[in-house]
Amino acid sequence: MAEPLVPTGQVDLRPLTTLGVGGRARWYVRASSVEEVATAYAWAQDRNLEVFVLGGGSNLVVADEGWPGLVLHVGINGATFWGDGTDTFVTAGAGGTWDDLVLAVVSRGLAGVECLSGIPGTVGATPLQNVGAYGQEVAGVIDSVTAFDRATGETLRIPSDECGFGYRMSRFKGRDAGRFVVCHVTLRVRPGFPTVTYPDLVDYVERHAIMSPGVGDVRDAVIAIRRRKGMVLDAADPDTRSVGSFFVNPVIKDEVYHRIAAGGGIPSFAAGAGFVKISAAWLIERAGFGRGFGAGGAALSTKHPLAITNRGGASAREVVALAARIKHQVADRFGIWLRPEPLFVGFGDDADVAYLQAHDAAG
Ligand SMILES: Cc1cc2nc3c(=O)[nH]c(=O)nc-3n(C[C@H](O)[C@H](O)[C@H](O)COP(=O)(O)OP(=O)(O)OC[C@H]3O[C@@H](n4cnc5c(N)ncnc54)[C@H](O)[C@@H]3O)c2cc1C
Repeated sequence: MAEPLVPTGQVDLRPLTTLGVGGRARWYVRASSVEEVATAYAWAQDRNLEVFVLGGGSNLVVADEGWPGLVLHVGINGATFWGDGTDTFVTAGAGGTWDDLVLAVVSRGLAGVECLSGIPGTVGATPLQNVGAYGQEVAGVIDSVTAFDRATGETLRIPSDECGFGYRMSRFKGRDAGRFVVCHVTLRVRPGFPTVTYPDLVDYVERHAIMSPGVGDVRDAVIAIRRRKGMVLDAADPDTRSVGSFFVNPVIKDEVYHRIAAGGGIPSFAAGAGFVKISAAWLIERAGFGRGFGAGGAALSTKHPLAITNRGGASAREVVALAARIKHQVADRFGIWLRPEPLFVGFGDDADVAYLQAHDAAG
């Protein structure tokens, strides 16, 4: 008979996140199968506790007060490759390390995720915000997601076109936030050429005279570029003690772009008819926050103005206060309200967090 699932009390969440701030979980449990996910939910429901689903903790700001309910750490592992005669698929457990899966795909010479190399966290969290980098998004290869639906207690297969993917968004982060626990993700990948479209990547490939880059070359290039920016986890590099980018790049109307860009030089990307995506890092620097700008234990990365880092002993309050200050100043200077990328856990109705999550009419 299976061992009963016994949650542990009072678990420090700091070591379970990359930013390393915040308090404790009142209860914590690790679930290594779909059945254990269901059991953990039933346990929490019996005690009237809220559940927070934890992956690799690389996109979270945990409140100093911690989480009063149950933290459910998803530990479903394994990956199986299979084919249907045309395409190759891989079904992977949500608790597996994302970059291990990328390496397994790239090692087979398959394309579609090579630009997503080096992103921290688990497989199961990738659909949440449709992770993306260097010209690819995971939505481009997701075939389906298998998820436990806490509303019904059932496990469903959700095809990609029902996941509501957008720029750093999905139904799992948006309209259905908190409803599903992703248990498995199936990717459809293909032999073929890597994606080399993103300016930094094109530049790297040219400078290193890589003639016909394969998927492995692109993976190496992406990791090298990310390391330079402090965007791969490295215990020896305090610039990586972060959630990665704290704000997403704003997508704004053409006319707003022309007003801001009048001075020239703002990095931008096409984002559909009438819209432009602009660099949040550029806005932050121009609003007066240079690399390394700090307040208490929280400071911007010395390599990238978009990452708020814990320089040692930072509190969640300091992180959130710095983020709110940046958002205020960017709004004052440019009239653009930055949208934060990480999830805020246990903050209740905290005023700074409410402000960070608010958006203006155009947002
Ligand atoms: C140095 C650094 C660089 C980064 N670079 C990038 C980047 O280039 N591109 C990018 O998009 N992101 C980037 N990120 C952000 C982060 O790595 C990704 O968002 C990642 O997918 C988060 O995975 P995680 O397992 O750590 O999720 P967590 O941080 O544990 O959780 C994030 C959210 O997902 C939910 N969640 C986690 N697992 C599940 C599950 N199985 N089912 C349901 N919900 C779940 C949580 O409840 C939470 O809401 C970076 C972060 C860091 C620290």
